[in-house]
Amino acid sequence: MKRTILILAALLLLLATALPAAAAEIDGETKSAAIELPPLPDIDINSWEFLYAGPHCGVGRYHPHVRSVDGQYMDERCADAADDFLKAARAQGFEVYICSSYRNWEYTIFWYEEAMRKYGEYDYEYCHCLPGSSYEAAKHVFAAGCSEHSTGLAFDITDEAYYWADVNYSNIHDETVAGTPVCQWMDEHCTEYGFIVRYPENKKEVYGMACYPGHYRYVGREAAEYITENGLCFEEFLALYGKTIAGVNYVNEYVVREA
Ligand SMILES: [Zn+2]
Repeated sequence: MKRTILILAALLLLLATALPAAAAEIDGETKSAAIELPPLPDIDINSWEFLYAGPHCGVGRYHPHVRSVDGQYMDERCADAADDFLKAARAQGFEVYICSSYRNWEYTIFWYEEAMRKYGEYDYEYCHCLPGSSYEAAKHVFAAGCSEHSTGLAFDITDEAYYWADVNYSNIHDETVAGTPVCQWMDEHCTEYGFIVRYPENKKEVYGMACYPGHYRYVGREAAEYITENGLCFEEFLALYGKTIAGVNYVNEYVVREA
């Protein structure tokens, strides 16, 4: 009996040591089938256009110089680009408005608290909305400084019907904007103005939160084209330059061709 137990234990030990080796091999195969990307644009990844804010990593009390665009505020360095982008959409006959852009620290605290009240849970300690959290609110509203709107580089659109119906953040910025012709047009043309579709549906697992259609983020034209043409999301683009977000590397399936 004792011997049987010993043999069983030895077998289990063998299995336990063999399993990680098999996983490593699978990992090796994944790496050999990596997606090849063209050479990276020659940009300064530490420049203001690439300021990151997300559930893993906030910008704190960042206050960029802002300028009014469409009655909302954008970082003044990309305000013209936002303006041109909207004008181009309107020239196509679309009624489009910015329903939300720069939100300062105080404002994001307000919205976070509102969301916590709405979803029935509230916790001041909970300042980083990590994916998988039990807090329903974390899927909808970021903690102060953790929203991309804190950077002044992003805006959300809405159409005429929504704009006049109810000027309430949670009502005007929902997934229904995704199917509208204006949103489709802006998705297709945003790179021409230096913007990206920040939360593409197929990259949810990378950015780790709800998908927000109609949310555009400025990164400059060169980066916007690279990100869009190669089907990346912003986290993956940053990682290609060696930038990790809260220690997470988002990019292990890509290999960049030498210039
Ligand atoms: Zn947004």
